[in-house]
Amino acid sequence: MGIIGADLVRQDAATLARAMAEGEVSSEEVTRAHLDRIGEVDDRVHAFLQVLSTEALDAARDIDRRRAAGEQLGPLAGVPIAVKDVLTMTGVPTTCGSRVLEGWRPPYDSTVVERLRAGGLVILGKTNMDEFAMGSSTEHSAYGPTHNPWDLERIPGGSGGGSAAALAAFEAPLAIGTDTGGSIRQPAAVTGTVGVKPTYGGVSRYGLVALASSLDQAGPCARTVKDTALLHAAIAGHDPRDSTSIQAPVPDVVAAADEADVRGMRIGLVRELRGEGYQAGVSQRFDEAVAILTDLGAEVVEVSCPHFEYALAAYYLILPSEASSNLARFDGMRYGLRMGDDGARSVEEVMSLTREAGFGAEVKRRIMIGTYALSSGYYDAYYGSAQKVRTLITRDFEAAFAQVDVLVSPTAPTTAFRIGDKVDDPLAMYLNDIATIPVNLAGNAAMSLPVGLAPEDGLPVGLQIMAPPMADDRLYRVGAALEAALVDRWGHLLIEEVPAL
Ligand code: GLN
Repeated sequence: MGIIGADLVRQDAATLARAMAEGEVSSEEVTRAHLDRIGEVDDRVHAFLQVLSTEALDAARDIDRRRAAGEQLGPLAGVPIAVKDVLTMTGVPTTCGSRVLEGWRPPYDSTVVERLRAGGLVILGKTNMDEFAMGSSTEHSAYGPTHNPWDLERIPGGSGGGSAAALAAFEAPLAIGTDTGGSIRQPAAVTGTVGVKPTYGGVSRYGLVALASSLDQAGPCARTVKDTALLHAAIAGHDPRDSTSIQAPVPDVVAAADEADVRGMRIGLVRELRGEGYQAGVSQRFDEAVAILTDLGAEVVEVSCPHFEYALAAYYLILPSEASSNLARFDGMRYGLRMGDDGARSVEEVMSLTREAGFGAEVKRRIMIGTYALSSGYYDAYYGSAQKVRTLITRDFEAAFAQVDVLVSPTAPTTAFRIGDKVDDPLAMYLNDIATIPVNLAGNAAMSLPVGLAPEDGLPVGLQIMAPPMADDRLYRVGAALEAALVDRWGHLLIEEVPAL
């Protein structure tokens, strides 16, 4: 009896892993199928900045050999994965979507990549992203935008649009994203896929090129909640090389996804994250999903988080402040691009020419805002006030979680917009993250999962689940229950409705 159908790229990771363990298919065959798929569709999707065909096939054959030799392998051994181009991988160019890093080959693996390799996962390539993860559409990539497989004229979200689009285009069953203000969850929402921002400190930041160090977090992306949990378990856990890494056992996210039971749970609707400003079809699908959670036995109540309305303003002071400091290291001296190095110019001139040529407009905008916010005389008024707001937002969450187990909201205010629509309007772009940013400021865990298509445009809608720090398992318990109920209703996963490419 076959576990899997003929079309390997349409299978989820758990199914592929089981079929490989049973000897029904090899990792080499699975990897080749995905590389072929990338070859077929990625000129239209542009999810990948780099495809590592030779390395991937070598890694796959190695897993097949070790399996044949009877070695005990991890639960995702042999499964292909795409990695956002903000995580280092030894010897492989890491661009962060920026010209300034062109030509840089990091000499070490990030902890996330190291754990993927240790788990036997096969890295297919590096995915496209907004430059240094600043953006909500991947249009700020120096290498051109990624296209949303649901409608190639539309954005796949950002900054991790490449990872989300790779999943939705069936180019990879798993992907790694990073989320500083929503870059895993918003792309998941607009591509009909699943993404989780783990608790801050839950996944190591070692080798993750820093945007805003107090907010950045890498996390798992997939097409099902269970696959997301398996990947979460593979990458999470303490790492002495990251000083903010939490030294405590990782919550059992896989068991929680298997339990998929919300009976007796208390779920809070955040009053400030719904209604006005949200597309009608987004609100409609969100309300229907909440009704399903009630039917499944959860108790749903409304809660208020009054300081959330200041989250975006605080974020756009804290993030640029940290980014302006983190990005100071890209000056042509140690990494990638170097301009004007003709022997006649001063070091300062070379640095300034390099930064002028190497950074895009959005990155420059944020470096300037951050430098201003941190400057003497303004520091307390801007950065200091933003940090106080951050504390108030954390307290809002604490008060809410004293009443409920998880909070829910729409992930993004709209479905995928058209490429070009918001790229010249920074504020309109920033507003995409209105519902995702509070979680990053407080360091909580959150998931986005698909809950249907908006009736007015037929595009996917995401629901966000938020949990207290180190209660990531609750996301999976609720997410898996909701996903199962929706699959019952539709007869299939939402992603099956994505148009053929
Ligand atoms: N879109 C948000 C920003 O531009 C979030 C980015 C992120 O999470 N990396 O900052």
